[in-house]
Amino acid sequence: MPAEQQDTPHYWAIIDALPVAVLLKDTAKPQIYANQQARLLLSLPEPVLNLSDIRLIELIEPDSEELLSLVQNPLLLALSGSVVHQQVRLAGSKQRLQLSSQLVQLSFTLSNSVLVALTPEQGKGVIRDSQRSVYDENELEEALAFDKLMSLISAELINVQPEQLDIHIEDALSALGEFCHADRSYVFLFSDDMQTMSNTHEWVRDGIASHKANLQQVPEAALPYFWRVMQSDFIFAVRDVTLLPDEASAEQQEFEREDIQSVLCSAMTNQDKLLGFVGCDMVARKRAWTASDIRRLKLVGNMIGNTIQNVNYRLSLKQMQQELMQANLELQELASRDGLTGIANRRQFDTLLQHELQRCARYQLPLGFMLADIDHFKQYNDSYGHLAGDDALKQVARTLSQTLKRQGELVARFGGEEFAILVPVSNADELTQLAETLRTSIEQLQQEHLFSAAQRLTISIGATLVNPDKTTNPSELIRQADTALYQAKAKGRNCFCIFQPDNLPG
Ligand code: GH3
Ligand code: MG
Ligand code: MG
Repeated sequence: MPAEQQDTPHYWAIIDALPVAVLLKDTAKPQIYANQQARLLLSLPEPVLNLSDIRLIELIEPDSEELLSLVQNPLLLALSGSVVHQQVRLAGSKQRLQLSSQLVQLSFTLSNSVLVALTPEQGKGVIRDSQRSVYDENELEEALAFDKLMSLISAELINVQPEQLDIHIEDALSALGEFCHADRSYVFLFSDDMQTMSNTHEWVRDGIASHKANLQQVPEAALPYFWRVMQSDFIFAVRDVTLLPDEASAEQQEFEREDIQSVLCSAMTNQDKLLGFVGCDMVARKRAWTASDIRRLKLVGNMIGNTIQNVNYRLSLKQMQQELMQANLELQELASRDGLTGIANRRQFDTLLQHELQRCARYQLPLGFMLADIDHFKQYNDSYGHLAGDDALKQVARTLSQTLKRQGELVARFGGEEFAILVPVSNADELTQLAETLRTSIEQLQQEHLFSAAQRLTISIGATLVNPDKTTNPSELIRQADTALYQAKAKGRNCFCIFQPDNLPG
């Protein structure tokens, strides 16, 4: 079901099928419904209209042949609830209309509605002038050309990059201006708090002055009538600005300042919220806006409104994505750290060991690996308390990390009071030197541990040097270092051993 039909009253099918033209105004909404015959008779594009659509229907006094002003417009009078019995003629048509209306209280379904029945002079029942098509040939060609251009522009707008947005909006405005024979076309956006509006994009015909720079952050108070009409009708259509009502004096002044004779604006909305509007001005002469002009304006307005929303959504999605990625990185970082000491945890170590083994295998480089274990740490905890034990663990972690600062070196908490250390050394001498440096770095902390032979906190280290190939297993490396550590403990602690295959126990 088309969107416009969803809004029609539930008894609409009956009214729509009536053989007389009927305009029905729902007093609860700013909408007017035109049945099939009314749409045909008045060349109305859609069954659901607003007051400004009706204002654009030009009615002529049959006797004087004068165009009726907006104030005398019998359609508007009738729709406002006034009783009207008047003969008028449609501009561009020979057909006379007998207009009559009264506030109808037909039944429960029609109460609170204003019903305007239009009867052509000779019509008895069906009102249809089969000679008159909705568009004449030129209009049809123009409509087709416009639709073609719009579909091209909208195709470009679908995935427009934010930095290209302005160019495409200006293209659409120039097409709109040309096809509506206007002198200016523009986009205004309302501020988020709906307090002001700003002219964001503009197209002007050659020789016509631009006023964009002066139309930034225009407050509601500057154009109160316009603001009110826009919010209730979503369209502002004026064929001749001098015919605006007295309450529009601020608008009249502004239009005069900009040399505007006729103006047509259509709202851009998103889920019933006004985002802004798109509009056209006539400067050089007046223009009685046509149903096609309104259709074009609405189309361009929807297109631009949707695109701006779309770009904003995409920008905020991108920002959200970046924030998520950042949060994810932080989480990953957190998940790879040991909670107590802040150095890499076992999981991170396992990943990096695997990675390092592969890298060294690929480039045929040796890899040094050590397990460092605090000596008599159970005694330390028992004597100084668990919290002091935690502090000692942090201190050892910090000291080992600070000692190993070169590229590729890594200290991780392996578990309990054991630390795993990866060092990209090139030979056993380098590994020996590093193991000794690490051992002394802890010894030199001179952290009291009266229940250890050295009377201070010390570590023992088991180290191994491998030349990995594709088949080298990480657990084999750990097993070798563990064996060497066991030997260091057996040797009396506060020392290190390098794994030698010959020394394998048993
Ligand atoms: P050795 O010299 O042979 O290594 O003796 P040890 O006492 O250090 O070895 P053992 O394996 O018997 O004891 C390790 C102790 O480390 C026991 C445990 O309470 C302590 N420990 C492990 N994790 C933590 C920790 O997170 N905080 C504290 N305070 N102590 C811990
Ligand atoms: Mg241990
Ligand atoms: Mg220990």
